[in-house]
Amino acid sequence: LKERELIEAITRLTGSDGAGVLRAIGDDCAVVEKSPGQVWLLTMDTLVESVHFDLRWHTPELLARKSVSVNVSDIAAMGGKPLFALLSLGLPSGFDPQWFERFSASLVQSCKAYGCLLIGGDTVRSPDRLLITITLVGQSEQDLVLYRSGARPGDTVWVSGPLGLAACGLELCRAGLHLRSDTHLQSLIDAHLDPQARTKLGRQLAASGLVHAMMDLSDGLATDLAHLCKESGVGAIIEADMLPKSSELTQGAALLGLDPLALMLSGGEDYELLFTSAPEYDAELLQLTNGAGHVIYPIGMIEEASGVKIRRREVGTASFCLEDISYQGYDHFA
Ligand SMILES: [Mg+2]
Repeated sequence: LKERELIEAITRLTGSDGAGVLRAIGDDCAVVEKSPGQVWLLTMDTLVESVHFDLRWHTPELLARKSVSVNVSDIAAMGGKPLFALLSLGLPSGFDPQWFERFSASLVQSCKAYGCLLIGGDTVRSPDRLLITITLVGQSEQDLVLYRSGARPGDTVWVSGPLGLAACGLELCRAGLHLRSDTHLQSLIDAHLDPQARTKLGRQLAASGLVHAMMDLSDGLATDLAHLCKESGVGAIIEADMLPKSSELTQGAALLGLDPLALMLSGGEDYELLFTSAPEYDAELLQLTNGAGHVIYPIGMIEEASGVKIRRREVGTASFCLEDISYQGYDHFA
C-alpha cells in the first residue's frame, strides 16, 4: 500500500458537506468556517521515534521545537496564523521523567515563539517507541486562504529556500557526523534537527493577493509538487539549474557520496513553502518578499500537461533532457 493510496482511501471516508467545512482532506489543513469572513485551520502531525527522529541526536528541547514547527508549517502553508496546540504523547515504560520535563518546557516555549498556546492533549503508554502527535488550530481571513488547488498553466513555481538540507543533515547524523564541529555541516544538521516554519512569509504571501497555490515541503519537491499539480489539474516543469542549492549541500553530499540533485528533489523535511503565481507579477513578488527579508526562488513553470518534469543538462553535452519525477519523494509506506 502506497501512502497516496492510503490517503485516497481515507478521503472516501471523510465528510465535507455541512457544518461549515470549506475544505476537508487534501490540503495542508482542513478549513472550517469560524465566523463570517474568518476560518479555522486544523492540522495534525505525528512524529515516531526511529522514523522521524532518533533520541541519539534529537535532544528533548530540539525534538519539542521540531514537533511544533512541522505542525505550524502546515498552518503557514495556508497563509494562516497558529493559535492553539494539543499534544498527545505515547511514552514507553520506564521513560526518563527528566526528559519529559525538558521536552515539555521547550514545547511551551516553542508554541509561544510562534504565537500559539498549548491548551490540552493526552498521554498514553506506548509499547516501545516514543510517539508525538500535535494538533494545531490556526485562523485566517477566509478570502486569504491559499489552497494547493489554485495553480494555473503559465504560473511561475517558487520555493522559499534552499532544498535538500534536512535530508542531507539526517544522513550526516546517521553517519555519526553530527558530533563533528565542522561549521559547514552544522547548517545541514540544524535543518534536520531544528526546522523553522515560514509563518511570516506565509502570511505575507497570502496577504499579497499574488499567489495562486501554496503548500509546504515535507515529503520532497518531487512528491509535494505532484500533489499541488494534481489538486490543481495541471503539471509542472522544473529547471534543474534554477533549484536553490547551498554550498553546504554540495559539501555534505560529497562527503556522503550522495547526489545533491536527488536530495533536493526527493529529500523530505525541507519545510519551505512551495507556491505559484502569475508570471507578470514575478518582479513585484520578489520586491515585496525581499523587502521583508525573505529570499524566494523561481524554479520552474506550471503547464497544462499533467506530471512533474525536470529539465536538466545532459552530462558532457549542450543538450537538455526532460525527465518525469512525479511522486519520487519520500513515501512513508514504500
Ligand atoms: Mg504540509
